[in-house]
Amino acid sequence: MPTGTGKTVTLLSFICSYQLRRPEVSKLIYCTRTVGEMDKVLQELERVLKYRNEQLARENALTDAATKILAVGLTTRRNLCLHPSVTNAESREDADAICRAMTASWVRASHGAASSQSESRGLFERDAPRSSVVPTEELLANDSLCPYYEKFETEGRDALIPNGVYTLDAMLSFGRARGWCPYYTARHAINVANVVVYNYQYLLDPKIAGLISRELARESIVVFDEAHNIDNVCIEALSVNLRHDALNRCMGNLQRLTARVREIKDSDAERLQTEYS
Ligand code: SF4
Repeated sequence: MPTGTGKTVTLLSFICSYQLRRPEVSKLIYCTRTVGEMDKVLQELERVLKYRNEQLARENALTDAATKILAVGLTTRRNLCLHPSVTNAESREDADAICRAMTASWVRASHGAASSQSESRGLFERDAPRSSVVPTEELLANDSLCPYYEKFETEGRDALIPNGVYTLDAMLSFGRARGWCPYYTARHAINVANVVVYNYQYLLDPKIAGLISRELARESIVVFDEAHNIDNVCIEALSVNLRHDALNRCMGNLQRLTARVREIKDSDAERLQTEYS
């Protein structure tokens, strides 16, 4: 069907109504191919929910479940980051590497930061902060740790994110207002959100899905937008690219290893011969 005919809005209206009627299907996972499409889906969803709730209110049928919707989009760090070193990175790989260099558990431990992910407590249940936070300016100045990650770890991991539809801009503004990393806030929020919009890979690529999507409810509705792209995404996700020079280097290493093993075998055989002759 051509674009602009209302496919997304139709799907969203239908599925959100179904969720309202069948609360046990608590999550809609909407997979798109690009960040632009992802944001468009979230904007459409915002309009659909607003219209639906206006109609329900007019009919005196507006319920708590209809108003308490959390919808979140998840994309790469570079698109959901507040740290200048990452937002100015040349490539997505560089951005990920810079972020990891500031947030890896061993890096944080070496700077005495409060430990994290593995000790996650009840999702979004308000709890006492775990440690004091080093001022943002200080951390930004020395690039050792990310202040937004530290603040998210201290305050955000167990806190309640207000209901609403979070487009990328909305999530960035929310992160900025709280001083929390928007990427990790979104990543954490997808576990409790009613609607999650993200890239195909987050569900189809086993390397990423194992990290991001493993806690998502089994009773979810999954939509693949432009699903004719699925085979290409799967081929890409499950393929490994090897360079010729890497294969040549492996071959060289194997030959050296074989020669060394042969050498040791020969010298051992010689020693045994000498001892027992
Ligand atoms: S933790 Fe978040 S804000 Fe900090 S560098 Fe990484 S993505 Fe950016």
